[in-house]
Amino acid sequence: MLRGLAGALLSGLLAMPCAHAARESAPVSADIQVRIDPETRELTGSGVWTVPPGEPLAIVLDDRFAVPRLQVDGRPLSADTQSDGRRQWRLARSERDTRRVEIEWRGLLDPLETALDHRQVLRHAAPVTAPRGTFLPGAADWHPVFIGRPLQYTLRVDIPQSHRAIVAGDPASDRIADGRRLQTYRFEQPDPAIDLMAGPYRSVERQFTGIGHHAITLRTLLHAEVADLSAGYLDATERYLRMYERWIGPYPYGSFSIVSSPTPTGFGMPTLTYLGIDVLRLPFIRDTSLGHEVLHNWWGNGVYPDYTTGNWSEGLTTFMADHAYREQVGPEAARDLRLGWLRDLAVLGTGQDRPLREFKSRAHGSDQIVGYHKSAMLFLMLRDTIGSDAFDQGLRAFWSQHRGSVASWDDLRAAFERASQRDLAGFFAQWLDRAGAPRLRLESATAIQDASEWRVDFTLSQERPVYRLRVPVTVGTGSDQHVHWVDFDRERATFSLRIAQPPGSITLDPDARLLRRLAPGEAPPILRRAMLDPATVTVLAGAASAGEALVRRIVEHPLQLRSPEAPPPSAPLLLVGLERDVNRYLARHGLPPRPAELAVTPDLATAWVWTATRTTGEPVTVVSARDAAALAALGRPLPHYGRQSWLVFEAGTATARGTWPSRPQGIRLDAAR
Ligand SMILES: [Zn+2]
Repeated sequence: MLRGLAGALLSGLLAMPCAHAARESAPVSADIQVRIDPETRELTGSGVWTVPPGEPLAIVLDDRFAVPRLQVDGRPLSADTQSDGRRQWRLARSERDTRRVEIEWRGLLDPLETALDHRQVLRHAAPVTAPRGTFLPGAADWHPVFIGRPLQYTLRVDIPQSHRAIVAGDPASDRIADGRRLQTYRFEQPDPAIDLMAGPYRSVERQFTGIGHHAITLRTLLHAEVADLSAGYLDATERYLRMYERWIGPYPYGSFSIVSSPTPTGFGMPTLTYLGIDVLRLPFIRDTSLGHEVLHNWWGNGVYPDYTTGNWSEGLTTFMADHAYREQVGPEAARDLRLGWLRDLAVLGTGQDRPLREFKSRAHGSDQIVGYHKSAMLFLMLRDTIGSDAFDQGLRAFWSQHRGSVASWDDLRAAFERASQRDLAGFFAQWLDRAGAPRLRLESATAIQDASEWRVDFTLSQERPVYRLRVPVTVGTGSDQHVHWVDFDRERATFSLRIAQPPGSITLDPDARLLRRLAPGEAPPILRRAMLDPATVTVLAGAASAGEALVRRIVEHPLQLRSPEAPPPSAPLLLVGLERDVNRYLARHGLPPRPAELAVTPDLATAWVWTATRTTGEPVTVVSARDAAALAALGRPLPHYGRQSWLVFEAGTATARGTWPSRPQGIRLDAAR
C-alpha cells in the first residue's frame, strides 16, 4: 500500500488515499510477468491468478491497456461497463471451486515528464516511464486488480540491463540475458495492488542481523548523482531498525530499500521508501522521515489499521518516530514540537477539528493536525498516565498479537489495559470521540508558609462538557522546577500542594503535555489567523489599491474594510500599507510599534510583516512596505508563511522570519512568610 510521506516539511507533497483491500478475505495469489521498455514506453504483461472460493469480485485494469486474452478456467470472459464508463470483468461467487484466471495485457505508459508535477502523479495516478525512471503506482491499475481481495504475488520484471526494478517484497532472483535484466520478487504479505519502480540505479546492499539472528538486506537503489548518499542512508536505516526491534519486536520483512525518484516524490510502502532525488538531499529526510517510514513496517504495513473505525497508525508512528527523535535531542526540543502542534490546533475552526476516530488518511492540512498530531498527543498522554513500562509492554503485546492482521483502536486500548491493569475506556473515548480539545485556565494561586513548609493553593477551570484530565503544574522554587500532577474532572477545582522550598511561581502545563486549546498568550498570533478568521477587519493605510489587491490574495474570507481615519475596530485587525502611514496609524491609536526583531537589514528591507496582540487581547497583523511595488511583490510569497509571526522581505524574498515565543499560563507567587 502506497502512502505519501507525512510532515509539514514535505508540505508540497500530497498523500494518496490508500485503497483498502478487505484483508480478512482469502488472498488471490498471482504469478505475473511484465516487460517494460522505457524508450518506447511499452508495457506487456501476462499472468495467472488463483482465486480461492468466495464472494463475487470484479477485475479492473486501466483503459489504456488492450487485453488480448482473459480466460477463467480456460473460457474467455468479456468485460462490461461500470457506471463511470470504465470496463470491468465480473467473476461470479464460488462456493467451493478455486478459479484460475489467465490474463494478457499491453499498452503504452505515459511519459515521465507528465509526472514532473508531483500532484499529477497523485491525482491521476498515471503509470509513467522514461530512461530516467519508471513509476507504476498500484492505484493506476497498471496490472489487473482483483477488487476487494488482497494479493500475494510472484512478479517477474523484464527491463533493460542498465535498469533495476523494485516492488514491495523479497527479491528472489536477478539475472542478465540478451541485454535485458530479469528480476523476480515474491511478496507473501497480502497487499491490494503492486507499486513498481525502476530506473538506472546503482545498487548497494548491506546485511543487517536483526533480533534472533534474523537476516535483513538493506539496500539503496540510487541515481548516479545521489549515489554518494548511500552509506549515510544505510547507516541511518540500521540505527532505526535497531531502535524499533528493541522497542517493539523483530522487523517483519527480509529487506528494506531506499529508492530514488526523478520526480519530487515522497512515498512509503512495505519494505521500501521512494524519494525524489532532491528530497533525498535534504538532511531532515534521513534524520526524521526515513525513520518514520521504517517504523511504518510495523504500524500500518505490519499491523493494518481498521479504516472503518479509524486509523491509529499515523499517530502512533508520529509519536514513536518524529516525537521520539526530538525526545532524544532533549526535553525542550520535544516540547517545541508539541507546542507547534498545539498552535496549529489553535487556528483550526470548529468544523475542521473533527473527532480523531474519523481520521482515515490524509487529504487536507487539517487531517494532518488531527490524524497525526492530535493522535500523537493521545499516545503521549497515555504514556504519562500508565507509565513507560506499561506503555512499552502494551505496544509489544499489541504487535505480537496483531502482526499481519487488521487491528482497531479498541485492540490498542485492550493491549494497554492488560499491560497497565487499568480501565482506559474513558480515556480513549474522550480523546477519540469528541471533537475539539479542552480549554484549561489557571485561575488563581497563592502561597503561604505553614510550619517548615509552604502550601500552594491554586484553582483550575475548564469549559463544559468537562474532560477527565491529569494536569501537570510546575512550581518554581529558586532555580528548580517541580512538576506535580493533579486529577481534574470538574469545571473548577482548587488544589493544594506542599513544597519544601519557598515557591516563586506556578505554571500550567508549561511542557505542552496535554492536548488542549492554548490560551492566547500560549498561542502567540501567527499570520494564518488573519488569513482564516472571517472576523478580521482590514485597514488600508496608503497605496490603497495595491494594498487591497494584496489582501484579496492572502485572505480566504470576504473583506471587511474600515477607513484609516476611523478608530481601530474591536476585532482582529489587518493593517496594510506604506511604512510612513502604517507607523502613523499605529502611533495615533496606541498600537504596538514595529518590533525590534524586524530591524535586520534596515537598508535592504522593502517590507515588514508582523503580528502583535493589543492590550485588549485582539490580534493585529501588520503589512508595511516601502512603496506600492514592494507591497505588490508580497502577493506571491506571503500566502506560504501562515505559520510565521513575523517576516522581513527584500523585494519579494523573505530574508528573515520567526514565531513569537509562547508565554505559558503562570502566576507569580509572593509567598507570605
Ligand atoms: Zn506516516
